[in-house]
Amino acid sequence: MNLKQRDKKYLWHPLTQHKLHPETIAITKAKGCVLTDEDGNEYIDAIASWYTCMYGHCNAYITHRVSDQMQKLDQVVFSGFTHEPAIKLSEALIKILPENQNKIFFSDNGSTAVEIGIKMALQYHFNTGEKRNALIAFEDGFHGDTFGAMSVSGLSIYNGPFEDFFLDVKRIPVPNGKNQDAILKILKEIVLNNKVAGFVYEPLVQGAAAMKMHDAEGLNEILKFCKKHNIVTVADEVMTGFGKTGKHFASLYMETKPDIMCLSKALTGGLLPMALTTCSQHIYDAFYSDEMSKGLFHGHTYSANPLACTAALASIELLQSDDIQKQIQTISASHVVFGNRIKSHPKVKSTRQLGVIFALDLNIEMERYGNLRDKLFKFFMDHGVFLRPLGSTIYIQAPYVITQKQLEKIYQVIEDALEIV
Ligand SMILES: *Cc1c(COP(=O)(O)O)cnc(C)c1O
Repeated sequence: MNLKQRDKKYLWHPLTQHKLHPETIAITKAKGCVLTDEDGNEYIDAIASWYTCMYGHCNAYITHRVSDQMQKLDQVVFSGFTHEPAIKLSEALIKILPENQNKIFFSDNGSTAVEIGIKMALQYHFNTGEKRNALIAFEDGFHGDTFGAMSVSGLSIYNGPFEDFFLDVKRIPVPNGKNQDAILKILKEIVLNNKVAGFVYEPLVQGAAAMKMHDAEGLNEILKFCKKHNIVTVADEVMTGFGKTGKHFASLYMETKPDIMCLSKALTGGLLPMALTTCSQHIYDAFYSDEMSKGLFHGHTYSANPLACTAALASIELLQSDDIQKQIQTISASHVVFGNRIKSHPKVKSTRQLGVIFALDLNIEMERYGNLRDKLFKFFMDHGVFLRPLGSTIYIQAPYVITQKQLEKIYQVIEDALEIV
């Protein structure tokens, strides 16, 4: 039996209805931008395996560093103990994070990073003597699959069984450059009728909503409103962080900085799972007390795993290198050219781009997990490119190390796919 067949016996895959989608593809090797399956087929990883492996798969700079670290210190409790990989990582991060970020809290995936952000926002108010129970979030946002994260996610396609247990969340539309007054009116309504603890948002690009992009100036106005009303702002940069938008963080496009930031995915270059929730000094200060109970009593066994910290540190060094920064420029410029080439195609409704993130909407109604989507996915894979259409949106978020030739192949297969839909 091959891997594909053996998989069926015991494994239960994420986000999968196994009766409708029994097939998996067994990947045996990943190097640079190329995935290889058990039959020897190769696929360009045009979405960097959910935007994680931005420096290429099995990047030698990262793997060597982690391999060295493995010989010295593998894992230790991070409550009461500390270690050099975590300290070095914190020092490197503070240099590139928005200037108001001053404290770093570890966890191990994007959902928990958001969960912690929400808990920080709620407890911040609790500790300062004012219980606030409501949260604000964007329509169509996605923040993960744990309860707090699900609650703030607007994109709750299959959340039916859980909705009765969600936190109290008020929704606002994303700023589009034209609805500023309408949004402010909704916000005023919300704060009049609710005690709002925090605002959780994906800055500028909503990933799972199919790379929907919104207006930076409008977002800045919302953030200013939140500051004025002491609403803790929680930027979920799990997807946008570490160079995707052309800056190290999407939050750097806005003048008003978030109180809290959530980071994961590209943080470790895809080598090991890790996440961070960072915050400003004034958030931290609300927890710093002679009273034990004012501390943040949240912790994960693998918090600040030394190997993951080492992978993250090596990744940040790569991000800051001239090579990668130049690649980000080159990829962005290529996307602009491709966008211009494709946007007048009769099957294309619109295109959008920010940094290395490119998306196009097809002129066709499609279900998020429907047959046409599956047909497109299969077409891409059959032609050696791993792309995962989201409904009628095709997006690219390739590793920074992609070659021009590989990029051209991705563009070409998308153009060819337009002929089959
Ligand atoms: C992927 C993602 C998450 C969830 O991260 P996981 O590691 O999958 O739990 C949260 N927020 C955003 C914006 C994401 O893209």
